[in-house]
Amino acid sequence: MTAIRPLVAGNWKMNGLSGSLSELAALRKRVDAAPVPQADAMMCPPATLLTGARDVLEGSSILLGAQDCHSLPSGAHTGDISAEMLADAGATAVIVGHSERRIDHGETDALVHAKALAAYRAGLTAIICVGETEAQYRDGKTLDVLRSQLEGSVPEGARAVNTVVAYEPVWAIGTGLTPTPPEVAQVHGLIRSVLGQRLGDSEAGATRILYGGSVKPANAAELLFVPDVNGALVGGASLKADDFYEILAVYA
Ligand code: PEP
Repeated sequence: MTAIRPLVAGNWKMNGLSGSLSELAALRKRVDAAPVPQADAMMCPPATLLTGARDVLEGSSILLGAQDCHSLPSGAHTGDISAEMLADAGATAVIVGHSERRIDHGETDALVHAKALAAYRAGLTAIICVGETEAQYRDGKTLDVLRSQLEGSVPEGARAVNTVVAYEPVWAIGTGLTPTPPEVAQVHGLIRSVLGQRLGDSEAGATRILYGGSVKPANAAELLFVPDVNGALVGGASLKADDFYEILAVYA
């Protein structure tokens, strides 16, 4: 099996006015000056900044992603944005099923599944997020919850080239808390085995499984070199070019 090329993706969430593009420009400068050839880097700004970010990143190796999409290509859906529109704005990937969407907007596995299919339809990579809540973690239900989320959210036709899975324990997002490396290894192993049952071992063995939740420069190496971890989805630390670059640079 060929080695999986890691991906470090940043998620700005609902942060960043247009001035934040200067952080992206600073990140680009650092990556241009000292490329990290062993990993891909991606930034997912809010939709309003996609075209500005595309301009900042023109000619750079840093990929551009979006944070959510509607399941349909167009129509009467005020305030929503289709995967096709994201592609038109320069995105090559879209996060679907982030826990903040699942919690704030009541998104179900079925909707996440439909959004992943929409991403494929538009030629985008779907970054499908799964993760247990604190209560589920405390009750020892993590593996059952993840199996069920994966079965409901990952389309049968998912392929390693168009799909990334991000394991993001809800209790670790923005809290400074993280699972232990052995816990991360156990969950990522489970994710790969469920993907194997759904997509076949060859696709599952090539699919990137990211860890997300309070990844910082100080803990990146400890979390990202765990078996079956193929990169990170980074929230808070993606807002600062230097922090994000330091996380990426664990793969230097
Ligand atoms: C996220 O929400 O995707 C995330 C990982 O956030 P943070 O890194 O801030 O915990």
